[in-house]
Amino acid sequence: MALLLTHATQLLTLAGPDRARRGTEMNDLGLVRDGAVLIDKGQIVAAGPNDAVAARAPSGVATHDCSGMLVTPGLCDPHTHLVFAAPRMADYERRLAGTSYQEIAAAGGGIRSSLEAVRTASESDLTHQAAFWIRQARAAGTTTIEVKSGYGLTVEAECKSLRAAHAAALAAGGDVAPTFLGAHIVPPEFVNDRARYVALVSTTMLDAVCALGDAAPEFADVFCDPSAFTLAESRQILEAARARDLQLKLHAEQFAPMGGIGLGIELGAVSVDHCDAARAADAALLGRAETVATLIPGANFFLGQTYAPARMLIEAGAAVALATDFNPGTCPILSLPLVMSIACNGMRLTPAEAWTAVTINGAAALARAGICGSLAPGKRADLAIFAAGDYRAIPYYAGQNLCRAVVQNGVWIESHGHD
Ligand SMILES: [Zn+2]
Repeated sequence: MALLLTHATQLLTLAGPDRARRGTEMNDLGLVRDGAVLIDKGQIVAAGPNDAVAARAPSGVATHDCSGMLVTPGLCDPHTHLVFAAPRMADYERRLAGTSYQEIAAAGGGIRSSLEAVRTASESDLTHQAAFWIRQARAAGTTTIEVKSGYGLTVEAECKSLRAAHAAALAAGGDVAPTFLGAHIVPPEFVNDRARYVALVSTTMLDAVCALGDAAPEFADVFCDPSAFTLAESRQILEAARARDLQLKLHAEQFAPMGGIGLGIELGAVSVDHCDAARAADAALLGRAETVATLIPGANFFLGQTYAPARMLIEAGAAVALATDFNPGTCPILSLPLVMSIACNGMRLTPAEAWTAVTINGAAALARAGICGSLAPGKRADLAIFAAGDYRAIPYYAGQNLCRAVVQNGVWIESHGHD
């Protein structure tokens, strides 16, 4: 059924090529004042000046008056860990009292404590919770969301997590991009024989998740970090994933410079994520690479740590995306509009750069720049509608959810209709 959105005070089309925007391109939002969008059969037919677009609409088309509203592409969140069983509020209190993330992890908290909860949780509980969080994200404007496994770390529990992500996507609707993160940490039962765990992930576990049919992952990810996997281990796992036709992602340079950015670029990863400890040489590499630098300032905010050098990356010509990293330990933030506020205030992104980072560049970080992330004819009709007449209002009103509705696959969904 056709749908027409009229008289948007500001319409952000992000018109341009179906690829990530880099450097100064990130400030071009394709802004149209008094804009309209025509949708049919789940796709964008036209987006642009109101009168020209409205003239193309069939008579009797369902119409939403967007006067006073900001209409944008649906937001794309390219990094979350939303399949988990229990929040880590005890870790939160310990960290506030002065214990570091690394100390908490070494004492058996952190990711390890999430393992037990997921291993013992039922698949239906994991599914129900994941669907709840996907709907919560949509209520803030997110229509495409990446979901990682990685709190199971056994063949069985990783498969269970990916099946839960798939079932949650069916229950909640929306575009959910599944990622296998069997290499999140070395689980406690393998700490004295980590090579055996790396071998397990690289063979049996990858084979098992790739055989999940509709629930199989699109991406494989590795946490390349002093607390997790070395550069050589990361390479072994990522090469095994690539050999099985998975696309690659990498948690790189979150807490320390490990060489993960260079490895990700060398292996053709779609994104390298975090980049907090990126150096000038890394920025220069990213400035020449297709690989997207996905920054995750909500985690820095929540951990009280120094932000990634976003200005250095953008000025080097890198394509920068933003993600929430929603997870039960280091970042329980699921709102991309809040992440935009943190990115602008903490990393000095311009509001326009932040918008590019959560739309077309977020889509590119999920290999979806040709599918969503901008309002171009033929693209999937995923939009977000905000109660604001100015795109800068979204990062400005930090913590306010101004999202009133999304259009997902051509269907209008009110934000207050979520559970
Ligand atoms: Zn992560």
